[in-house]
Amino acid sequence: GEENQNCLAIMQERMPSRLIATLRLAGEIAESIGSRAYCVGGFVRDFFLRVPNFDVDLVVEGDGEELARKMAQHLGGKARIHQRFRTAALMLPDGTKIDIATARTEYYEFPAALPKVEKASIREDMYRRDFTINTLAIALNPDSFGDLIDYFGGRKDLEKGLIRILYNLSFVEDPTRIIRAIRFEQRYKFTIEDDTLRFAKDAIERRLLGKLSYKRIIQELMLLLSEIDPLPALDRIMEIGVWEYMIPEIDLNKVSRTMIKRTPIIITWWEERYYGKNIKGWLVYFMLLLAGLDEELVIQIIKRYHLDNYARKAIQESRQVPQIVEYLWESREILPGEMDQRLDGWSNESMVLLLLSIKDELLWEKLVNYLDLKEQVKVEINGFDLKEMGLKQGPEFRFIFDELYRQKLNGIIKNREEELQMVKKWISEGKFNNDPVAE
Ligand code: ATP
Repeated sequence: GEENQNCLAIMQERMPSRLIATLRLAGEIAESIGSRAYCVGGFVRDFFLRVPNFDVDLVVEGDGEELARKMAQHLGGKARIHQRFRTAALMLPDGTKIDIATARTEYYEFPAALPKVEKASIREDMYRRDFTINTLAIALNPDSFGDLIDYFGGRKDLEKGLIRILYNLSFVEDPTRIIRAIRFEQRYKFTIEDDTLRFAKDAIERRLLGKLSYKRIIQELMLLLSEIDPLPALDRIMEIGVWEYMIPEIDLNKVSRTMIKRTPIIITWWEERYYGKNIKGWLVYFMLLLAGLDEELVIQIIKRYHLDNYARKAIQESRQVPQIVEYLWESREILPGEMDQRLDGWSNESMVLLLLSIKDELLWEKLVNYLDLKEQVKVEINGFDLKEMGLKQGPEFRFIFDELYRQKLNGIIKNREEELQMVKKWISEGKFNNDPVAE
C-alpha cells in the first residue's frame, strides 16, 4: 500500500546524481554496521513539494555516530560529533551538509545523566515530531533504497496542503508548535487542519504559551523572521492571539508594512551586489519591529531575549538610522569619506535598514556609491612603509591609515605612490610631533 511506495524514480528525476550516490553509500555503510538509515524531515517534505532544500537530514536506527565517521572516511569530509545529543554534522568536500541523528523518542535533549542509551525505532523518532508533513522518511539501506515510510499520512497532507499534529496533546506538550504551525502554513500557503486549529486555540486560551522560556520564544521568532516574507505569518500570529506571548511591547499594527514588504527585495539586491556579505534577514526584520519603541524598552528586550553581541550592536546602530537619513539629506555635497566617518564599522544589517529607509533616489545613489567604493578601495601601504619613512609605531599609525582610506574614498589619492607622497607631506607639515623626522 501507501507505506511501501518507492520513490527512486522521482529521486532520480529531482536530485543530483551525486547526492543519490551519497545517499546510497549512507545506506550501504549503515547496512555494514547493522544499522538502518533514513532521509527524514524538512528535506523529504521539500523534496515532495519540489522546494529546493540542501540540508540533508538522516536518522539512523542503530549507531548514527559510527555512520557519520565512516561516511567521512569514505568521502573525505569532516564529521563533528555531539555526543550529548547523539547527533553528528557531516561536511562533505563538495559543500553538502548532512546531519545525522540516532533515532530517539524524546524531542529535547536527554537528561544529563541518562543511565542507558535507549535506541528507538524510526517510527518512534517520527512520532515525536510536530506535524504529519514532517514525518516522512525515505529508506536508504540497499534492500529498500528509496522506499517511502509514511506512518502518519504525511504524504496525503502534503497533497492536501494541511498542517496536522500527530496527537491531541501535541500543543500542550510543546506550545512552540503553535508558532511553527503558523510558520509552515504561511510559508507553503497551506491550511492548519480543523482539529489542529481547535487544539491550538484551546492551548492559547489556556495560556500555555506563557509557560515557555524566553529562549524558546526568541528561537521560534528568529525562525519566523528568517522566512523570506514573514508578514503573513506575523499577521496570523496576531490574529490568533499569540503575539502577546512573544514581544507584547511591540504593537505590530504600528510596524511599517511597506518596509517589511521591501526588505526581501533589498536583501536580495544587496547579496547579489556585495557577494559574500550575507544578511541575517531575521535581524533586519527585528530592527524594523523595534523601530518605534523607546530606548529603555529596546534595552529591556535585548536583555530579556539574550541577544548576542553582534545583534545588540546592530540594533544600536539601527537606532541612529533616522538621524543618519536626515544628516545625509541635509549634507547634499557630502563626500564618501565623510559618510564613512558616520557609518564605518556598521553591520551589513543596519546598512540594509538604512537603504530601506531612504526614499530619495539621489540619496540612494550616493549611499550605494559609497558602499561600492568601500568594496574596491584599500590602503596599499603598510606599517613597514611607515617605519621606513622614519615613523615610530604608535597610535598615529591608526590615524594615518584611517585618513589615507578616507582620502582614497574621496578620490583625492589613487594609488600607493600617492599614499606615500601624502604621508611625506604630513611629516613635513609636522603632523606627528613625537616623530624624529618631523622635529
Ligand atoms: P526548515 O528548516 O525548512 O524551516 P525543518 O522542518 O527542517 O524546516 P527545523 O526547525 O530545522 O525545521 O526542524 C527539523 C525537524 O525537527 C522538523 O522536521 C520537525 O519535525 C522537528 N521539530 C523541530 N521543532 C520541533 C518541535 N518543537 N516539536 C516537534 N518536532 C520538532
